[in-house]
Amino acid sequence: MIKINEHYLKLQDSYLFANIAKRVNAFQEQNPDKAIIRLGIGDVTRALPSACIDAFHIAVDEMAQDSTFRGYGPEQGYDFLREKIALHDFQNRGADISPDEIFVSDGAKCDTGNLQEIFAADARVAIPDPVYPVYLDTNVMAGRTGAYSKGRYEGVTYLDCTADHQYLPQLPDEPADLIYLCFPNNPTGATITKSQLSDWVAYAQDHKALILYDAAYEAFIRDDELPRSIYEVEGARDVAIEFRSFSKTAGFTGTRCAYTVVPKTCRAYTSSAQATEVHPLWNRRHTTKFNSVAYPVQRAAEAVYSPQGQEEIKTLIDGYLKNAAYIRESIQQLGLHCVGGENSPYIWIDGNRDSWEFFDLLLNSAGVVCTPGAGFGKCGQGHIRISAFNSYENVQQAMERIEHVLR
Ligand code: PLP
Repeated sequence: MIKINEHYLKLQDSYLFANIAKRVNAFQEQNPDKAIIRLGIGDVTRALPSACIDAFHIAVDEMAQDSTFRGYGPEQGYDFLREKIALHDFQNRGADISPDEIFVSDGAKCDTGNLQEIFAADARVAIPDPVYPVYLDTNVMAGRTGAYSKGRYEGVTYLDCTADHQYLPQLPDEPADLIYLCFPNNPTGATITKSQLSDWVAYAQDHKALILYDAAYEAFIRDDELPRSIYEVEGARDVAIEFRSFSKTAGFTGTRCAYTVVPKTCRAYTSSAQATEVHPLWNRRHTTKFNSVAYPVQRAAEAVYSPQGQEEIKTLIDGYLKNAAYIRESIQQLGLHCVGGENSPYIWIDGNRDSWEFFDLLLNSAGVVCTPGAGFGKCGQGHIRISAFNSYENVQQAMERIEHVLR
């Protein structure tokens, strides 16, 4: 008799985006002439940079000739891409990361979801609330949690991110082995300073814990004082794994390319408390279950690091940041408290009311779609997330409509 992995039965159905779509469709049916403005889902709206498109075309043409055709590539990614990543994203910023510590993949979603596989089933996980749901659900699937009760899974150390601490997680007061951090944060848009991040690195060192640092929104950081990588903190190489993605950096959400950094000095422990390198474990997992990213996609990602590519992604992100600043200022002028929107595409708004009620008000009275904070965890209740991924004109119009409703 084939039995199922019963941990899957504990999972809560993610009704969030389905529920949003249902309400939006109902509104559109009742108001066929109303143009809805979508500031909900965190997907980019602008085309790939032309440097990436040109590199893509050239690589596709290479695939059309026997003499330049490529079959399976190295599972960890081609050297041409790993070398550019190590140099531009780390070494040039004083972070000591080498190309063979980089694992190219088809997404930070898969990597942040899969990485927990190499750790013990009884590892104690600490996860922020509100959170990008992948971290939590993949640990539920792996059996690291108990049942779901009153909005939370038993056995998880939740790191509440509330207005009391500018929506930043605080160090846990119970021991944690695997700690998820995400900065700039989805959904709150909050950022962390180097000194605050150093506290987490020190915690991990003291408790022999490991940090999984999701920096998918790193490219939105414009404040030079903020760390772009956890490896800018001394000692982080030994206790942290970092995730990056070309999705938001260069508009690759539909093209798929990301990478994970596993430093060779990073350690975890056997049941007899013997220190073991994590790099060979992830290398084994990655090469066993993953067969590399398409060659033309890796060439397109490489083009991000060309002078033209750098210029183009700066323009791209400047556009989204201009939207974010506009949203943030409009919300503040309405007297509502918010975080994010600076160094981040997300604005997290305290609505002083139920988050679905706030969502419905903006949809039904302004025709604007946001994301209710309750969908990201218990601490998200009372909040909504507005995303800057749209045109400036649409953002201006959406904020005008919201002002009209809330004034
Ligand atoms: N990490 C965070 C925090 C995200 O918000 C997202 C996507 O929205 C991802 C990872 C997924 O990135 P990718 O497109 O590389 O899978």
